[in-house]
Amino acid sequence: MPVAFISHSDCGRHDTGWGHPEHVGRLRAITRALRNDPSLFDSVEQVEGRHATADELALVHDSDYIATVERFAATGGGQMDIDTIMSEGSWAAGTAGAGCVLTAVDRAMGAEHARSFCAVRPPGHHALAARSMGFCLFGNVALAARYALSVGGAERVLIVDWDVHHGNGTQALVEKDPAIHFVSMHQWPWYPGTGAAADSGPHQNAWNLPMPAALPAASYVDALEGGIDAATAGFTPDIVLISAGFDSLAGDPLGGFTFEPEHLAAITRRLVERAGAWCNGRVVSVLEGGYAPDRLAEGVMAHIAALA
Ligand SMILES: [Zn+2]
Repeated sequence: MPVAFISHSDCGRHDTGWGHPEHVGRLRAITRALRNDPSLFDSVEQVEGRHATADELALVHDSDYIATVERFAATGGGQMDIDTIMSEGSWAAGTAGAGCVLTAVDRAMGAEHARSFCAVRPPGHHALAARSMGFCLFGNVALAARYALSVGGAERVLIVDWDVHHGNGTQALVEKDPAIHFVSMHQWPWYPGTGAAADSGPHQNAWNLPMPAALPAASYVDALEGGIDAATAGFTPDIVLISAGFDSLAGDPLGGFTFEPEHLAAITRRLVERAGAWCNGRVVSVLEGGYAPDRLAEGVMAHIAALA
């Protein structure tokens, strides 16, 4: 069964300007790299995602906030918070990004495509229930987890977040639900300042792995695999969600980790193997950060090859 490459043209309508690190060229670099790799191109099935509805977004966000985002886009957008810019197309982009992830969950739970990569923007893992944060409007992966439980028939969800920044939004949106286990490895101290090792959430279902910058890549691989082992001891997920942030690659302007694409591919292969034993191989991976477009594309290609 091929891996689904899920995206939506509306994700390109979130116009932050070329001076913003989270610009539309990130997705273009990914699709260009995929087209330039015929064997990888042939191993994926391109799928257009759908838009998430306001009711679906309300699985994790406050209705007032959802309406505010829609209204702000309709009036032309602007600065949503200190880091997050919106344009007229940002509502379409945000709901398409979230919807692509729901399409991926539907396909995984329905056994159409066990594995998917969602090439979406804006990213999601800093978004909170009632506010945008850190380039993020909607908590795509947290939404996917809640949706897999409430609509998809899953009973347990594992989220693995290897973006160089703590997935504070995801943690805030899922930590009250013990059916979701959340593992985040992130640079420390670093933006957004949350994610201490002792912060395991009110139900001890968060595994935070704060790490210094510039360690040998193997240290990050070992730490993350240790976190995944701890989070799945006595807990067999029905689906694995990845917050795939490629700002953890060496050379990213917004991070100091030292991963090369091969390291993220190795972690991916291991997760795919374990998902095979846990849950018929269901893995839904969702783009988060990654701000050097060529490196991002290189990382995504290695990750998709490992998913396949
Ligand atoms: Zn990040």
